[in-house]
Amino acid sequence: MTDRYAVIGNPIGHSKSPMIHAAFAKTAGHHIEYLALEAPLDGFAGKIDEFIQSGGAGLNITAPFKQDAFAYATELSERARLAGAVNAMKFEGDRRIADNFDGIGLTNDIQHNLGYRIKDRRLLLLGAGGAARGAMMPFLEEQPAEIVLANRSVAKAEELRAQYNAQGRITALGYESLKAAGPFDLVINATSASLHGAELPIPRESFAKAALAYDLVYGKGLTPFLRAAKQAGVERIADGVGMLVEQAAEAFAWWRGVRPQTGPLITKMTIPLD
Ligand code: NDP
Repeated sequence: MTDRYAVIGNPIGHSKSPMIHAAFAKTAGHHIEYLALEAPLDGFAGKIDEFIQSGGAGLNITAPFKQDAFAYATELSERARLAGAVNAMKFEGDRRIADNFDGIGLTNDIQHNLGYRIKDRRLLLLGAGGAARGAMMPFLEEQPAEIVLANRSVAKAEELRAQYNAQGRITALGYESLKAAGPFDLVINATSASLHGAELPIPRESFAKAALAYDLVYGKGLTPFLRAAKQAGVERIADGVGMLVEQAAEAFAWWRGVRPQTGPLITKMTIPLD
C-alpha cells in the first residue's frame, strides 16, 4: 500500500502542503499519497483516529489544531513540549509521536537560505502566539546577543520570557516601549496582523540599517510590516514562504529518511515583495 500522509486544519483549502510534499516525493522518487483533511472544530481527535485506521502514517497539523495535537500525542519532542504546540506527527502502532518543525524551519530559512547569521545579533520577536513560542528554542540555540519579545498583550510576552529566561538574555515589553529598546539586527513578525493587512505600531528606530525584516505570513506580497521596514531604510526583507517549505522538508525527512532540496521549490513559490 502507498504510504499515506495528510495536513489537517480548518479551513484547509488554502494549504500548500499537498503541493510541497508531492514535489518532495517526486524528486525523492517516493510514491506517497498526501491529502488535505478538514476536521470539525470540535472533532480533531476523531478525524485523526479515522485517518490512522485508514492507514495514515503521518500528519502535518495547521491552525487551529496545533494545541489539540499536543494533547493527542503520546510522545513529544523537547521543542514541541516547550512550544506547547505540535505541527507534525507520525504513527507507529499505538504510538502518536509528535514534533514541531516551525521554529527550525524559520531559523534554517534565515541562516541557510537568506544567509543571515543569528549568533550575537539583537533580535526583536513580535508576537507571543504559537509561532513565536515555537521559534524561541531554535533561536536561543543560535545564541543571539538578546531576544526582545513584544506583544500586544504584554502578559503573554512576559510568560514566554519567564519560560525561557534561563537560556539566554530575554526582555518582554509592549509596543510603546520599543522606541527606546532599538535598533535590532533581526526583526521577526510572528503576529498574525499581516494576515488581515493590519499595521503594527513599530517605530522606525527598531530597524538597524543592515537589518533583516522577516514576516512569517507568506503569499501576501509587501505586507504592512514589510512596508514599514522598507520605509525605515531596510533593504533585506523576506516573507514566510521559505519557513513553510523548510518545516515541510524537516517533516518529510522525519517520515521518509530523506531530506529534500528546498531551494528550487522556494524559488518557484516566491512572489515579489513590492
Ligand atoms: P496565534 O493566533 O497563536 O498568535 C497570534 C499573535 O498575533 C498573538 O501574539 C497576537 O497578539 C498577535 N496579533 C494578532 N493580531 C494583531 C494585531 N492586529 N496587532 C498586534 N498583534 C496582533 O498565531 P500563530 O502564532 O500560530 O501564527 C502567527 C502568524 O504566523 C500567522 O500569520 C501564521 O500564518 C504565521 N505562520 C507562518 C508559518 C510559516 O510556515 N510561514 C508557520 C506558522 C505560522 P495577542 O497575544 O495580544 O492577541
